[in-house]
Amino acid sequence: MYDYLIVGAGLAGCVMAERIANILDKKVLIIEKRNHIGGNCYDYLNENDILVHKYGPHLFHTDLLEVWEYLSQFTKWNNYQLHVLGFIDGKKVPIPFNLNTLHELLPDDSAEKLERKLLDKIGLNNKIPILKLRRSEDRDLKFLADYIYEKVFLNYTKKQWGIIPEELDPSVTERVPIYISRDDKFFNDIYQGLPINGYYKMFEKMVENPNIKIILKTNFNEVIKLVDNEIFFLGRKFDGKLIFTGQIDELFNYEYDELPYRSLKFEFESFDKEYYQEVGIVNYPNNQDYTRITEFKHFTNQENQKTCIVKEYPKPYCRETDIPYYPIPNIEYHNLYLKYLKKSEKIKDLILVGRLAEYKYYNMDTVVMEALQKFQLL
Ligand code: FAD
Ligand code: UDP
Repeated sequence: MYDYLIVGAGLAGCVMAERIANILDKKVLIIEKRNHIGGNCYDYLNENDILVHKYGPHLFHTDLLEVWEYLSQFTKWNNYQLHVLGFIDGKKVPIPFNLNTLHELLPDDSAEKLERKLLDKIGLNNKIPILKLRRSEDRDLKFLADYIYEKVFLNYTKKQWGIIPEELDPSVTERVPIYISRDDKFFNDIYQGLPINGYYKMFEKMVENPNIKIILKTNFNEVIKLVDNEIFFLGRKFDGKLIFTGQIDELFNYEYDELPYRSLKFEFESFDKEYYQEVGIVNYPNNQDYTRITEFKHFTNQENQKTCIVKEYPKPYCRETDIPYYPIPNIEYHNLYLKYLKKSEKIKDLILVGRLAEYKYYNMDTVVMEALQKFQLL
């Protein structure tokens, strides 16, 4: 009946379903355990008609024209560019740390001296990861790096991941490099924005082909089993392909131990005023239990007398109660993942795509790119 089974109606699952249905004209069943499609990108209108992101702020940004053009078939964009401030020593200053941040936090004479050093050693409009700047041999730059590390990265990372920056793959803190520039934008990608009518509407359009059926509120293991490296669907051997976008450790029943993840608690609050804060996201590296506050109206420019914010409280992931928002990038967990990957390669018609199945800290654009590439290999 179905040519493809897809586990998960997030971005990875919906891109695969859309391609298979529209390009191959084959039948797809998506099995999704939540009560909606869109995975972690899901958004909705709250009780005051404000568009909010249920699972934390999602800003689309990419340098990949192919990905931008692909998604643009399903939505127009609002071209919003994110600005982030960090609450440091009682001031709200631009993040990523840049030349403006330097001048706002340090006394004029040291800021000027350090700016000259940064321009000389790193160069205008260049970026440098904090862990690399900390290895600087120049005494002044080393001082600055330690200062930024303490004020911006150390406590935020401990809160977010439960470990210090050095215990994570360097790519994690490299996401927010020091920027030798006066440009306060959070991302510098060529294409940026949010779907003009929200992510959910974009997802609905992606899966509107009648070749695609979706069952919600169903865990894949209620209907799919792996037995002797064969795929079984509803008790019978399945002849098509299984595209899996859930947790790879769950697929193999945690045979080699659980892969660790970080989770989040989201606390939404509404206010009877037009705006709560200056920009879309304010980071709180040091003094609060939450890492950041997002105010959604900045993303959309919605006119509304009320506003809505969400605070993010990181926490360890517990299989029974939490959503595994972040795979934890480090060598030990990567090696555990590789054991699962090796096992998965024995199953001929199994394709793994997405943040959970590949255990990678992917942004949305990389997930789309991965899915488009894996589609080509079907
Ligand atoms: P998911 O969105 O997790 O989708 C997987 C789907 O599979 C889910 O719907 C899940 O319910 C379902 N599923 C899992 N297990 C089962 C099961 N057992 N049975 C049935 N269904 C199952 N990226 C950006 O580019 N920009 C951002 O600003 C950004 N912000 C983010 C903020 C937060 C707080 C988080 C957590 C992520 C953010 N991301 C951002 C990353 C982005 O969310 C992911 O890249 C993208 O959603 C991954 O898509 P996916 O399909 O791989 O995974
Ligand atoms: N980070 C930090 N302080 C900040 C912003 C980021 O220490 O003010 C570090 C932290 O380790 C974080 C990582 O950089 O997890 C990536 O930040 P990003 O904003 O990309 O996180 P995401 O939006 O993916 O949660």
